[in-house]
Amino acid sequence: MKIPLVDIQTQYQNLSQEINEKVLYVMKRGDFILGEEVKLFEEDFTKYCQTKYALGVSSGTDALKLSLLAGGVKEGDEVITAANTFVATVDAISQTGAKPVLIDINPDNYNLDLNQLEKAVTKKTKAIIPVHLYGQPVDMDKVKEIAQANNLLVVEDACQAHGAEYKGKRTGSLGDIAAFSFYPGKNLGAFGDGGAITTNNEEFAEKIRMLRHYGQKKKYFHEIKGFNNRLDTIQAAVLRVKLKHLDEWNKARGNWAQKYTELLKETSLITPKIESWADHVFHLYVVRSQKRDELINFLKEKEIGAGIHYPVPIHFQEAYKDLGHKKGDFPMTEKAANEIISLPMFPELTEEKINYIVKAIKEFEKANS
Ligand SMILES: *Cc1c(COP(=O)(O)O)cnc(C)c1O
Repeated sequence: MKIPLVDIQTQYQNLSQEINEKVLYVMKRGDFILGEEVKLFEEDFTKYCQTKYALGVSSGTDALKLSLLAGGVKEGDEVITAANTFVATVDAISQTGAKPVLIDINPDNYNLDLNQLEKAVTKKTKAIIPVHLYGQPVDMDKVKEIAQANNLLVVEDACQAHGAEYKGKRTGSLGDIAAFSFYPGKNLGAFGDGGAITTNNEEFAEKIRMLRHYGQKKKYFHEIKGFNNRLDTIQAAVLRVKLKHLDEWNKARGNWAQKYTELLKETSLITPKIESWADHVFHLYVVRSQKRDELINFLKEKEIGAGIHYPVPIHFQEAYKDLGHKKGDFPMTEKAANEIISLPMFPELTEEKINYIVKAIKEFEKANS
């Protein structure tokens, strides 16, 4: 049995008729840039995230960048985020001219260690980006308490957490602004790049609307220096069809996660902890193993896709040498990078597939004990 880490084809097969019709409709209309489907998707996504505004943009990275810029982040500022995140979070900070300031993670949930957050705040700190990594929300009450005390902007990186909830409230509605990615493998994925920004702040929404569209409100009248960072109409049409299924897909992910956790109790792997405040949407199902590399190779031989998110922490990346960090600066992040393994996770998994994967893990453990 061949099982990929992520399966995006099955989802398309199941919805192909409706998606094909919608895409053809956009092609007939020809409103490819900020067309009708973008406006409708923004309305749908606003409702979904329980926010006043949603704006379609070109990617998750651009969503983060525009959010920071709209919130006033500029050269010379500092923005705090987690050392264990996808590089795009930190790239977006760099693109504003601000300096990324990293802090270590809480090894229980792989998110920001909030006990270290306040210590990282300086006079230059302007914003904080809590990353809801793997689909589990950060403890936002704590984040907001520290942000309020220090007058900081809170930009959620919700790129892995579409539909996740914190104490019953949707991600995207928890900070000042939030960034989503619709990269094809995300819980809500387009057929190419795409992203969105959600906020309740009218001023931020207005600024982002201009920034994504050459800095103009009125055509050819450019009030601020802007970008070309719009969501394609065709992608919006695809996303509108898929959004209707997101809750059902997230529920399936949660069920598969529960199944994995139950079966993996009989192994030495450390399974994910779901925090009391969290409705976790399991973008990734991440476990820990003391023999991580050997286990991945073993699974590969069995044609089971497994990944590492992420194998090289930000402070060890060539591109971020200039932050001046060294080995040992973020011990929990470094330890996780050596032990974590992402098992196949997508809504269309089956019980048979999970049994097969767990059986392979047990086989590995037996041969390596
Ligand atoms: C995917 C992702 C991004 C970037 O999104 P793109 O659409 O690929 O630009 C940013 N942050 C996190 C945590 C992500 O997982």
